[in-house]
Amino acid sequence: MALIVQKFGGTSVGTVERIEQVAEKVKKFREAGDDIVVVVSAMSGETNRLIGLAKQIMDQPIPRELDVMVSTGEQVTIALLSMALLKRGVPAVSYTGNQVRILTDSSHTKARILSIDDANIRADLKAGRVVVVAGFQGVDEHGNITTLGRGGSDTTGVALAAALKADECQIYTDVDGVYTTDPRVVPQAQRLDKITFEEMLEMASLGSKVLQIRSVEFAGKYNVPLRVLHSFQEGPGTLITLDEEESMEQPIISGIAFNRDEAKLTIRGVPDTPGVAFKILGPISAANIEVDMIVQNVSHDNTTDFTFTVHRNDYQSALEILKQTATSIGAREATGDTNIAKVSIVGVGMRSHAGVASRMFEALAKESINIQMISTSEIKVSVVIEEKYLELAVRALHTAFELDAPARQGE
Ligand code: ADP
Ligand code: ASP
Ligand code: MG
Repeated sequence: MALIVQKFGGTSVGTVERIEQVAEKVKKFREAGDDIVVVVSAMSGETNRLIGLAKQIMDQPIPRELDVMVSTGEQVTIALLSMALLKRGVPAVSYTGNQVRILTDSSHTKARILSIDDANIRADLKAGRVVVVAGFQGVDEHGNITTLGRGGSDTTGVALAAALKADECQIYTDVDGVYTTDPRVVPQAQRLDKITFEEMLEMASLGSKVLQIRSVEFAGKYNVPLRVLHSFQEGPGTLITLDEEESMEQPIISGIAFNRDEAKLTIRGVPDTPGVAFKILGPISAANIEVDMIVQNVSHDNTTDFTFTVHRNDYQSALEILKQTATSIGAREATGDTNIAKVSIVGVGMRSHAGVASRMFEALAKESINIQMISTSEIKVSVVIEEKYLELAVRALHTAFELDAPARQGE
């Protein structure tokens, strides 16, 4: 008998019919003798709808109140799923994050889980009940409702699996596993049987929203066996594993990630003296704005151009700050561009292969796509390009690194 945590995402509980289907599935697992804890998201579109309501009142909703509201989405689905299970004669009970006591810090809208009290859940499992827990939400030490950031139900699932020492955490969604890239953008993308935690972490942090990055961090840290599966189709899904593949066949690149969430800022004609990077980025970080990629050029007249990227949500504030900095340090101008996208190739195989980056640049050059910025780490290369070329770039790279599904090659 195994203890399994099963997380169902928004589309999988998007209608009452689907919730009934999920209940059927959970019932089958329960009847096979496994102990089951289910984590559910809000019905698809619900979290966005709730955020939209708040934004009708204020542009920047007050985080504490926003959390009180958006957490209701998951409260609805836990109750509906429990009812659907009970209707089928499966003993079940629903809990909000607060009722379990998923204790988090107080960073509203992006809280981190500190601890989970597993006493209630264990008692229910012992009594033969399926436990249905609301994803995405927790409670801080003062009793305030918190949420874990968009896509946070994945993290609830993995954190519960870690706390309960579950045999597996299964993330059920609307695709049948982790693909070489988003299958909605590249139909030739292939499902991966396995991917390492390290690669999945890079993929998630570089924009593949199939798993929330914190869920992968948790799974890696506590060594939780994690699998991504389709909610309503049978199949092995994708196992996220610690081992690097030993076979000779290991591809150099495991996947391609991309995101449209960043914006680029440039300050030109900066006097090139020691401390310049600090003068430019100090005020940005003081405003709590995270910087991702950075490029600095030295030009011939002893001035430098400096470019960096931030999240698009922070673009306006960052540009204001940079304009002030330009005036105070005597730079020529500060400008910005939101029409950019970041494309990254990821793979542990890169460690043992030379020339991966140049192969990437060659593929982009063949499509006449201009590279604006580059950053690399041991297992990834990222480039910033003009947003309108994003899909073309992802497809070209997918082909260049021989990731296209064999049956469809040349289509
Ligand atoms: P859920 O609501 O179940 O949490 P998400 O929308 O958060 O589902 O995540 C699943 C989606 O992630 C898929 O529909 C797919 O479009 C997208 N996705 C992005 N990159 C990948 C990838 N590499 N492999 C699989 N799916 C991906
Ligand atoms: N409902 C939340 C969201 O839409 C959490 C989740 O689905 O994982 O972000
Ligand atoms: Mg998700």
